[in-house]
Amino acid sequence: MEDALSKPPLFSGNFAFFFDLDGTLAEIKPHPDDVFIPENVLAKLSLLAKMNDSAVALISGRSIDELELLAKPYRFPLAGVHGAERRDMAGRTERMTLPDDVIQPLERELRAGLAPLTGVELEAKGMAFALHYRQAPQHEEAVFALAKSLVERYPQLAMQPGKCVVEIKPSGIHKGAAIDAFLQTPPFLGRKPVFLGDDLTDENGFKTVNKLDGISIKVGAGATQAKWRLADVKSVYQWLEQLVDHQQQEQRALTNRRDGYESLSRSI
Ligand SMILES: [Mg+2]
Repeated sequence: MEDALSKPPLFSGNFAFFFDLDGTLAEIKPHPDDVFIPENVLAKLSLLAKMNDSAVALISGRSIDELELLAKPYRFPLAGVHGAERRDMAGRTERMTLPDDVIQPLERELRAGLAPLTGVELEAKGMAFALHYRQAPQHEEAVFALAKSLVERYPQLAMQPGKCVVEIKPSGIHKGAAIDAFLQTPPFLGRKPVFLGDDLTDENGFKTVNKLDGISIKVGAGATQAKWRLADVKSVYQWLEQLVDHQQQEQRALTNRRDGYESLSRSI
C-alpha cells in the first residue's frame, strides 16, 4: 500500500523543535548502552538551536542523565522518562516522584515476576520501570501480562508499550504533556511545535503537536497520527541537514536584503 504521508517540508520561522532519541536521532542497537548520536548530527542540532533561539529539545523515555551524556559536548533542554523529568538550559531540573510505598513493592513484584523470564531486563528509572525484552522476544506475552496485572492494581501508574519494551510510568506522564510543558516557557513559548518520533510512545506527542497546528513527523513504518513521515534514521539526518541549510540560506537572504536596503537608503 502506498504511504499517504509525505516527507516533511523545509521551513523557517517561529518553530520549536522536539526530537525523540532512540530510533529517531540514533539507530536502535541490540543493547541501549551502545546507542549514540553521530557527532555531525549533534553539530547540526546545535546549529538548528542557534538559529531558533535555543528552542530545540530532546524528549525520550531515557533518563535526563543519559540524555545529557548522549548529547555531549552540546547542551539542549531535555525531557526524560517521557517527561517525568525535565531539565532546562540552565540545568534547572524538575522531577516527578512516586512515594516509596508504591515504588518499593512494585519493584519487588517486578523482580519476582521477571525472574523466570530469562533475558528480560528490568530498568529502574526512579518513578518508572522499563521491561526490555529485545534479547528475549519469546517472553513478550508474559511481559505484557505482568505489566498489565501491576498497573491494574496501582491506579497512579500506566502502561506504555514501545519497541521491544513495556514501560510502567506515572499516569498522565507522556510526551505530549512534556511538549505542552516546554511550550509554557521560553525559549519555546509562542512557537509552533515540530516533533519527530518513531515509536508508540511518540503518538501522544503527535496528537499534541497536531492540536497546536504544528508539524508531526513519524520516523519509519507503521500506523500513526503524525502528518508527515521520514523512512528511517538516515532520512532524519538528511532532512535535518537540508532544514539547517534552508534556514541558513533564508537568513543570508534576509541579511542581504537588509544590507541592500541600507546601502540603497544611504545612496538616496
Ligand atoms: Mg524512539
